[in-house]
Amino acid sequence: MLLGHLGDISAARRIAEAAYDLMTALYPICRSITGHGVRVTLDRVERWIPLQRSEIPSGTKVFDWEVPREWNIRDAYVADCHGRRLIDFKAHNLHVVNYSVPVRRVMTRAELEPHLYSLPDHPDWIPYRTTYYHEHWGFCLRHRDREALGPGPFEVVIDADLSPGHLTYGECVVPGTGAGEAFIYTHVCHPSLANDNLTGVAVAAALARELCARQPRLTWRFVFGPGTIGSLTWLARNEDRLASVRSGLVIGLLGDNGPLTYKRSRRGHTVTDRIAEYVLKSGTAPARIIDFDPYGYDERQFCSPGFDLPVGRLTRSPNGTYPEYHSSADDLSLVKVDRLAESLQTLARIISIVDANRLVINLQPKGEPRLGNRGLYRSIGGTSPDEFEHALLWTLSFADGAHDLVAIAERSRLAFELIDQAASALEKAGLLASPDRIVANSAEGPLR
Ligand code: ZN
Repeated sequence: MLLGHLGDISAARRIAEAAYDLMTALYPICRSITGHGVRVTLDRVERWIPLQRSEIPSGTKVFDWEVPREWNIRDAYVADCHGRRLIDFKAHNLHVVNYSVPVRRVMTRAELEPHLYSLPDHPDWIPYRTTYYHEHWGFCLRHRDREALGPGPFEVVIDADLSPGHLTYGECVVPGTGAGEAFIYTHVCHPSLANDNLTGVAVAAALARELCARQPRLTWRFVFGPGTIGSLTWLARNEDRLASVRSGLVIGLLGDNGPLTYKRSRRGHTVTDRIAEYVLKSGTAPARIIDFDPYGYDERQFCSPGFDLPVGRLTRSPNGTYPEYHSSADDLSLVKVDRLAESLQTLARIISIVDANRLVINLQPKGEPRLGNRGLYRSIGGTSPDEFEHALLWTLSFADGAHDLVAIAERSRLAFELIDQAASALEKAGLLASPDRIVANSAEGPLR
């Protein structure tokens, strides 16, 4: 199997540790949906994997949206009359509402108050707020600090640019030996937040790096782009290629203690859904499957009815369902290397199965073909010879062009890896063919 080596927990843990180190390097960077933060992030990722960069000018029409102006920030603070910084962007980049317009004014507390955001229920956490599509500015702070601010006057500075520029995304493309594509999308637009965002970036980079050293059948594309406007822009620029997309996943939030959570595609029974559910149900880690809803991350765009792609989402805790979500408490201490390793193993198996899965047709379907004559009986080792022979018989029995390998694995309750091994042996012996390249892309093909 393509990434079968990640089945070994010590190998997965080593890669998870490297991913954690990458997250540590990326954590301080102030990212947004546009701007240098994304570029610097991609620079760092590029030390691991080759990236094709795209820079799309502000104002470019993208379906019902347009690429916004580029936001870059140098400094921001609220200071008292002695110049003492009471809220300081340089201490934590969450202190500024992301995409704030520039400000330089002296204000009273009452004037400043409508621009302050804090969490009374978590007085020591800084909230994460954005104002991408509404011209506004603001500061986020610990509720405890807000209560101690005093009446002012305050010097209020946001030294930022919001001006015509570009939207940036990067892709690592691992070419396949056959037709068809698959992709992994992760958002790269969050500033200093660890589980929501950086786990997705680091896990995608780690998987891409492993895949670059191997030869997949499908062409795999790992896309690192901003949330919503990034996936919309990518879709707009790749519309002609979408017919060859077999499978896709949006990933993120992969390092917390929540159970692995697969969110189905809008259609709910695509090949991605069947494979992800098979992997989660046959694994040992706590896992759950949830249905599609038009809320969440970039799956909303990929699964919109005009595209309707076979794209699901893998997270641990979903967005908005853990208390630290979108606050300064979503920091590196929330991310556990063991949980990252488990997420990596799960994704590696999903990717391997997506890549190996295929429809099969029995070329000798009238009665059972004689396996002994072809050296297939008691000759090749599976887990045990007996189990391998069962896998051969199950594969032949359901190789009717309507079942793919994952369907046969589910039906037989044998591991996909064993069914894949049996199918390969039968193909080699001339008893099985794989027509899936033709059928998979038809609108109503069994793989959909
Ligand atoms: Zn988020």
